[in-house]
Amino acid sequence: MNSPLKLQNLIFMLALLGILASDTSAQSTKKVFGTLGDGTTVYLYTLQNSHGMEAQITNYGGIVVRLFVPDKSGKLGDVVLGYDALADYVKDSPYFGALVGRYGNRIANGKFTLDGKEYVLAKNNGPNHLHGGIKGFDKVVWNAEEKMDAKGQSLVLSYVSKDGEEGYPGNLSVTVTYTVTESNELKIVYSATTDKPTVVNLTHHSYFNLAGAGNGDILNEELMIDAERFTPVDSGLIPTGDRQSVAGTPFDFRKPIAIGARIGADNEQLHLGKGYDHNFVLNRLGAGLFRAAEAYDTSTGRVMEVITTEPGLQFYTGNFLDGKNVGKDGKAYKQHYGFCLETQHFPDSPNKPKFPSTVLRPGEKYLTETVYKFTVR
Ligand code: BGC
Repeated sequence: MNSPLKLQNLIFMLALLGILASDTSAQSTKKVFGTLGDGTTVYLYTLQNSHGMEAQITNYGGIVVRLFVPDKSGKLGDVVLGYDALADYVKDSPYFGALVGRYGNRIANGKFTLDGKEYVLAKNNGPNHLHGGIKGFDKVVWNAEEKMDAKGQSLVLSYVSKDGEEGYPGNLSVTVTYTVTESNELKIVYSATTDKPTVVNLTHHSYFNLAGAGNGDILNEELMIDAERFTPVDSGLIPTGDRQSVAGTPFDFRKPIAIGARIGADNEQLHLGKGYDHNFVLNRLGAGLFRAAEAYDTSTGRVMEVITTEPGLQFYTGNFLDGKNVGKDGKAYKQHYGFCLETQHFPDSPNKPKFPSTVLRPGEKYLTETVYKFTVR
């Protein structure tokens, strides 16, 4: 006969087996990605779900290096542009897959005034400041922690951007969590706090090609953006401050249409951007998650939805790619080989009082969320 102790052990073992059986996903994996010039080793983390979706992310710049999602026949394909080697990201990357901050997109003339004090930022885009400056969040080494819970496998990245870094005020403590969920989503949660008033606008800069990275251009892929208005730019790609209606223009993506259908139209804004490189004012009503965009590749049946808490979406069609960046598997990335859908606050908001504020003050918490969700049709 079983003694009470043995029975207890048995119950404990059965409970443990139950927990293990209900856990559909194993732990994420970690391997060395490369070593930086200063001797720092950086890693490549692989997050998966039980459907085979897989994100490979490095703690150098929080870069999504590979993102495998199924097509309509269930075949997995890597849908983001990027490099095989760390050294290539360090040498020259147009923000492939990067985590962008402290401020995504441009701040005019690299300066802004906050509470009556002018701050001068690093200029790395002609006279302007772009994507956080010379050494933005895309080029720093993040502290990384792997996590697994009911939502899926996550990578929690954290970084403290020092007071004065790239010209910004305040020590900014940032945490970004990437999760691959069981619903084939890459979910990104950004949070930050500061010890002095500052500006913050974090985003993600994957160049997507739903037919697979390096497999031609994205001009035949269809796109819907739920926006009535966009913010037109000047010759330096700085918003003029207006919010212009998309109606009757090549910027009308309210109904799905091929990205390339009107990209060559004789339109001043398209000439200035060499294609689409514009912020769209999302049709959101109030706060919360909003389905901002949907992209669809007819050849593979892959669909990507972009769902976000942000008010804006930068749609960029890889206009400056020119074949010089040779990416994964030796494939050269030419113009329009990828598109970015960067959820964000509007560019140059620190100098545009009528745009939604990007100011973060001590005691407040910056918290945004964006989901890239993959299905097939
Ligand atoms: C900007 C482009 C810029 C690109 C950098 C985009 O977010 O809008 O103007 O060239 O990032 O790769």
